[in-house]
This record gives sequence, C-alpha cells and structure tokens, in this order.
Amino acid sequence: MNNTGYIDNSETRSNVSTMGAVITHAPGDYRFEKVPIPVPGNREILLKVEACGICAGDIKAFQGGKRFWGGGPFTQYIESGCIGGHEFVGYAAAVGKGLSGDYKVGDRLIAEQIVPCGNCGYCRKGLYWMCDPHEVFGFKKHLNGGFAEYMILPEKSIIHRVPDTLSLEQAALIEPLSCSLHAIDRAAIEPEDVVVVSGCGPLGLGMIIWAKLFYNITIIALDLKEHRLHQAKTAGADYALNPRKQDAGKLIASLSEGLGCDVYIEAAGYPNSVYQGLQFIRKKGRFVEFSVLNDDVTCDFSIIGDAKELDIFGVSLSPDCYGRVIDALKKNQADVSGLVTHTFPLSEFSAGFDTAVHDEKAIKVLLVPEALNR
Ligand SMILES: [Zn+2]
Ligand SMILES: [Zn+2]
Repeated sequence: MNNTGYIDNSETRSNVSTMGAVITHAPGDYRFEKVPIPVPGNREILLKVEACGICAGDIKAFQGGKRFWGGGPFTQYIESGCIGGHEFVGYAAAVGKGLSGDYKVGDRLIAEQIVPCGNCGYCRKGLYWMCDPHEVFGFKKHLNGGFAEYMILPEKSIIHRVPDTLSLEQAALIEPLSCSLHAIDRAAIEPEDVVVVSGCGPLGLGMIIWAKLFYNITIIALDLKEHRLHQAKTAGADYALNPRKQDAGKLIASLSEGLGCDVYIEAAGYPNSVYQGLQFIRKKGRFVEFSVLNDDVTCDFSIIGDAKELDIFGVSLSPDCYGRVIDALKKNQADVSGLVTHTFPLSEFSAGFDTAVHDEKAIKVLLVPEALNR
C-alpha cells in the first residue's frame, strides 16, 4: 500500500476474483452481492473505486422514477442487473496496453459520467454530452458504475487525472460540482446581476460556490431546510431564506429596484419552485432549469413570451467542466467543506440511501467500498 491508500493489483487482484457491488434488480430492490471483478480489455482501465456519491438521480431510480424504468412518455433506460453510481473516483488498478494517454497503475482518475459514442450527429457537432445513445455510467450492464469495489473505464470514457492532494471528499464531489458549474455557465451571468438559486442541495450549493468565485455577484439562496440555508451562507450566498417563512419576493425587489432577479436557477425539483421563479424573475431575465422533476409543471407560458420575454436555459450534465473544477479544487479556490455529510461502507448502501432521503442534515452521502472478509 502506498501513501495514498492505493493497494496495487499485485496485492489484491492476484488472490481474489470477486468484489462487493450493489446490484440494481428492480425499483426498491438493490442488493449488495459478490460478483466477479471485471477484466479490462486492451483499451480499458480497471478502476479501484475510492468512493462514489449517491446522486438524486440514483435515489429517483431506486424509487422507481419513470425516466429510469419507463412509463408515460419514457422508455426504460435503466437495465436490471447493472451496478449503479456515476459520481465515482478511484485509482487505476490495471491499464490496457492499447490505451493512449500514458496512464499507469496507481494513477488517481475520474471519468465523466457520460461515455459519448463519437459517431452520432451530436457527437459530430461537438455536443458530446447530448450524445444520442446517451450512455451514462451506472445504468447499463455494459457500463457499470461505482457502487462497487472495481469498475471498468471503457475506451471512449473521458478521463481526467485527479491530484493526490485532493481529499476523498473533494475528489468525490468533482462530478456534482461539474454539473453545478455547467448550470452557472448556462446562466450567462453579468456583473451586477442578482441571482436566485432555488434549492440548496449539493448541486445548488455548488452553483453558489462557482457563481461567487467566478462572478462575485449578489446571490439569494432559497430552501425549506434550515441546515441547507446555513450551508448556503457558508458557500457564499449573500442571503439565505426559507420562502415559506420569509418574504423572498420583497427581498429580491429591494435588491433590484423592484424589477426582480436577473437570473433564477431552478434546482429544487418541484413545480412550486418553477412557479416561484416565473414570479420572481424580471422581464428579459434568464431562467435556468436544472432539476429533474418528478411531477409535471403546468403554467402560463405567455409569461415567457408576452409578459416577460424571458430566456429559458436547460442544463444537462457537465460538458468541459471537470477540468476547471479539478483545477479550482487543486488551487483551493473553492471551499467545499460541509458538503459531504455522511459516508457509509458500500455494504450498508441501503442505510446510505435512506439517510440521503430522510436525514434533514444530509447533503452529499458517499459510499466507500470496504475490504471484504474473504
Ligand atoms: Zn449525479
Ligand atoms: Zn454520440
């Protein structure tokens, strides 16, 4: 074992061929099982997983969300039998000889959550995060995720090096922080803007961190949970309010000559957060929709046109963000302490999911593979 905690393959993989992994069987039916350690191909990397965060998407999948299991307008995306988890980081345990990029065993690595095909119309336009087959780690049996001791990074993965100086928590936050940064990129923030971030989960908090770091504008954070409002202030929000208890509209008006906020970022995931945004935003404002909503939103679309002439920006994944996030963390420009609130051994994933859903103080919950008693 070296000083980073990495155990190289000569110590571990030569003696054992099974690993612990959380297998997705069906909604509500995930099981910790022993499965074979995957064998990397010539152009693949075997990653020994250090940690893997639980995403809101993982929870929605566990709860049987339509976007994952099909229903309504959606066809089934998730494959039963796969291993979940796309917020992983780890160390190369084996590197295929045919791989370019000078990787070696022991390198600390992360791969972007999407593995683009490289051939579809979007990939050919350079819009790799919109790739049509849309293969994301943790949803398909041929692209298992990080809720396991080991996983494969296939040839087309977009791999980034992770400095050994980053803590486990910082490294495990690279994926969600990258998604947050893309939301801020999309918001096209201008100097003097008043920006509202609705929803202060790990992603909303990340947006506050990046907006403050890169633009230093006025930020109003909204959430219903006290602990998250407190964390929003730590992340850099100038104001943090519970809109059920405090008059957020009045505050926004007082900061904007009565016009409304310039940017409203919807990161709460509830229809009320959308309605509230359409109300708080000024004419010609920028509305950024980040959340994956479980419920349909019904509203008067003429607010977008006739009433306010809004710009509506969607946000998906985190194109060209991982490198900038890693760089900012490396330079200690972003204080992400307090974002990881809980860490569970992988075998106790069920308690981890439960905590992520029910614990008022949970922000980001990590699963960490433990050495199994073999
Ligand atoms: Zn995620
Ligand atoms: Zn593609």
